[in-house]
Amino acid sequence: MTIEQIINRIKENNKNADIEILKKAYEFAKKAHKGQKRKTGGPYLEHALHTAFVLAQIKADFNTIIAGILHDVPEDTEYTLEDIKKEFGSDVATLVEGITKLSKIKYRGVERYRENLRKMFLAMANDMRVILIKFCDRLHNIRTLEALPEEKRLRIAKETMEVYVPIAGLLGIWSLKSQMEDICFKYLHPEEYKKLEYKYEVEKKVERNQYSREVKKILEKELKKEKIKHEIEDRLKPLYSIYKKMQRTDRKFHEIYDVFALRVMVPTISDCYKTLGIIHSLWKPKPDRIKDYIAIPKPNGYRSLHTTVYGPGNKATEFQIKTKEMHEESLYGIAAHWYYKEKGGSNYQKQPKWVEEILQLQSQEKNTNDFIDKVKLDVFHDRIFVFSPKGDVFDLPEGSTPIDFAFLVHTEIGNKATGVLINDKMSTLDKRLQNGDLVEIIIEKKRKYPNQDWLKFVQTRRAKEKIKQSTRLYRLSQLHKMIPGMKK
Ligand code: MN
Repeated sequence: MTIEQIINRIKENNKNADIEILKKAYEFAKKAHKGQKRKTGGPYLEHALHTAFVLAQIKADFNTIIAGILHDVPEDTEYTLEDIKKEFGSDVATLVEGITKLSKIKYRGVERYRENLRKMFLAMANDMRVILIKFCDRLHNIRTLEALPEEKRLRIAKETMEVYVPIAGLLGIWSLKSQMEDICFKYLHPEEYKKLEYKYEVEKKVERNQYSREVKKILEKELKKEKIKHEIEDRLKPLYSIYKKMQRTDRKFHEIYDVFALRVMVPTISDCYKTLGIIHSLWKPKPDRIKDYIAIPKPNGYRSLHTTVYGPGNKATEFQIKTKEMHEESLYGIAAHWYYKEKGGSNYQKQPKWVEEILQLQSQEKNTNDFIDKVKLDVFHDRIFVFSPKGDVFDLPEGSTPIDFAFLVHTEIGNKATGVLINDKMSTLDKRLQNGDLVEIIIEKKRKYPNQDWLKFVQTRRAKEKIKQSTRLYRLSQLHKMIPGMKK
């Protein structure tokens, strides 16, 4: 991977990008990671460049790509966030800071970790771009899993499947989701993966190519007659999606293999419906397989027309019909929306409103097994998420202080609190905590009672009640001292 490859990729989407800044970030990262090697034996810089390249591929905005190159600098080198801020401005620095905070989360058993990550991702919803960087970082890490010991490899693959994949789905970033799934599938179920890979990508390849040429020829002729501009592509199904389908529906290999899949891209929405009509007049559709996700998009924003027809030789053939823009959206999800917004100019914003709308829609989903339905918009409207040094996540109302945090962790920690480290820096107990802060309470072991003055600034009812309770006990104990012999 070279910086030129990244530059070329960026220029495809963004002709005005300031390439000099990109080169400067490259030189900076090169200097910072100098001499560092990854477990694979390759230079560390390689990882930074890969991360940035995938970000460019999914059309992330320019600062996100810069932050991608720099994402491991504060964590792994002697250069600090301050240095990054000085050189590349506060927007880039904030993104890198977000990533650095994410890496503070430690693995503490799959169940717990998953909950933590879910909360954390939501917390980072105030700048989704951090998540994009994290995804691209993770994608490169799993692409190079081979170099790790088996136990770690399996752990990372599992974690990716359980945490990253559903979130990529939630954000509609299909290209990352399916890539991550197929890589993890390979490690988690190696036998099944090999079998499927052979059958689908080797055995069936010739047949598939012949068949799709035939279908394309027939369809193209009709589309030309109707003067509809079009692109028709073979759609290779990700192996994991076949595997899942087989499991879910308990169907045999061939029933799923033998389904051919094509994508038709046309200029406008009305062309989509016309094309659907043409396909149905050519071949008989399966009645229960017609889906109009243009009129009624999926909750993650996905739009397309789907149909399965009995094509030539009575072979089941799936069509996706969509516009180019819909296709890009389905590949790049959230990132594509930024791209279109940026291109359109004026109303570019850090947290697009539709992200909230997605989350809201998702939260209305009735699917109880899905974590998404736990996500209520109000959860992160006025909640913040902070981390303990062990990597546990605690959510608090906005405006909470270290004392609120301390009482949430444990009453005794609240009672004995004397100081606090926020992100490894000394701070005061009345400081307003920020989303993503790492909070470490310093306690004085001998201390028994909290400070009443804390009532002036604590936000949570829990902290208030605990302080009042202990204060009553304290007064009582003073009373006992003053009046010897008083009944306890
Ligand atoms: Mn990294």
